[in-house]
Amino acid sequence: MALIVQKYGGTSVGTTERIQNVAERIIQFRDAGHDLVVVVSAMSGETNKLITLAKEISDPPTPREFDVLLSTGEQVTIALLAMALESRGYSARSYTGSQVHILTDSAHNKARILDIDNQYMRTDLDAGRVVIVAGFQGVDAKGNITTLGRGGSDTTAVALAAALKADECQIYTDVDGVYTTDPRIVAEARRLDKITFEEMLELASLGAKVLQIRAVEFASKYNVPLRVLSSFDEPGSQNSTLIAAEEEEDNKMEQALISGIAFNRDEAKLTLQGVPDQPGVAYKILGPVADANIEVDMIIQNMGADNNTTDFTFTVHRNDYPQAKEILNQLVTSLGAKEATFDNKIVKISMVGVGMRSHAGIASEMFQALAEEGINIKMIATSEIKISVVVDEKYLELAVRTLHSQFNLDEEAVS
Ligand code: ASP
Ligand code: MG
Repeated sequence: MALIVQKYGGTSVGTTERIQNVAERIIQFRDAGHDLVVVVSAMSGETNKLITLAKEISDPPTPREFDVLLSTGEQVTIALLAMALESRGYSARSYTGSQVHILTDSAHNKARILDIDNQYMRTDLDAGRVVIVAGFQGVDAKGNITTLGRGGSDTTAVALAAALKADECQIYTDVDGVYTTDPRIVAEARRLDKITFEEMLELASLGAKVLQIRAVEFASKYNVPLRVLSSFDEPGSQNSTLIAAEEEEDNKMEQALISGIAFNRDEAKLTLQGVPDQPGVAYKILGPVADANIEVDMIIQNMGADNNTTDFTFTVHRNDYPQAKEILNQLVTSLGAKEATFDNKIVKISMVGVGMRSHAGIASEMFQALAEEGINIKMIATSEIKISVVVDEKYLELAVRTLHSQFNLDEEAVS
């Protein structure tokens, strides 16, 4: 018998029929003797509807009232789910975030959880009740309702699991796990049985949108095992991906070197050529970019051909591209550079795997595989468990497919 926190996302509770389905699944766990705390999102599309309503009245609405409004989506689903359980003869109680004292800071619309008082939930669990908690919301020290940012129910679930020292936090969604890459790009993409927190963070931040990044960070910090499963699978299905701390054996020779390939089409590349090379150039270029609140991802600085100048290249999110372009055009004059060049038809492709730590030569194998397909690499960045390249966006599919088969990601790792 275990204490399990389950989280059901918007599509899993998208209709009353789906909610009944969730109730049936919860009952199976109850009947198996487990204690359950269940976190739910708003029914799919509801949060967006609330945002539209608010904007019809006031754009932007005051953050406090916006949170009061947004938190109502989840209040609908907790009540409906509790009713579904009770009508089946199972005892359950629903709670808003503030009722179970999910204390957050006062940063409305993007609040962070500070503390959870698990006393309330314990009392119900001890009395044999399923505890149902509204995701995505909390309360600040002054009693104001707060929300945690889009996708925040994942974080609620992980935080509750950490506070209750649950055995596992199960995230039910519409996919049955984390894949080696996007199956829409590579049909052979395979569901991973297990992945480390670190790998998941790299994959998530690179665009594999299964889980809110903050939830994974939280789970990693408090060492909460996270399992991604589909609420559309038959109950009892073994399909899932476990996200957990790295173990000794994850680093064994037989282990797959690469866990997944992520890509990001949202970046753009900017270059300042022929900048007089002096101490402080990087700061002079990136200072104004940072001042404009633009986040920079990859950075490359090269010695220019004449040794007195440098070429400076970096990438930003495409939303920030027009503004970053303007800044660079001004810098050409103020820094006496040769010219600024731009490219927003790029894609960043990253291979991620803790196996890289103990194996040399993965980068060169990656570059060779791309070269054999005639794919030119425009930028490279590496970290301990990741190698990223920037290529022309027209090569996205070819590059991901090539790497997926080069590193045998379609095959089960031998163990
Ligand atoms: N309902 C909220 C949203 O759509 C929170 C969540 O689903 O996790 O962002
Ligand atoms: Mg969600």
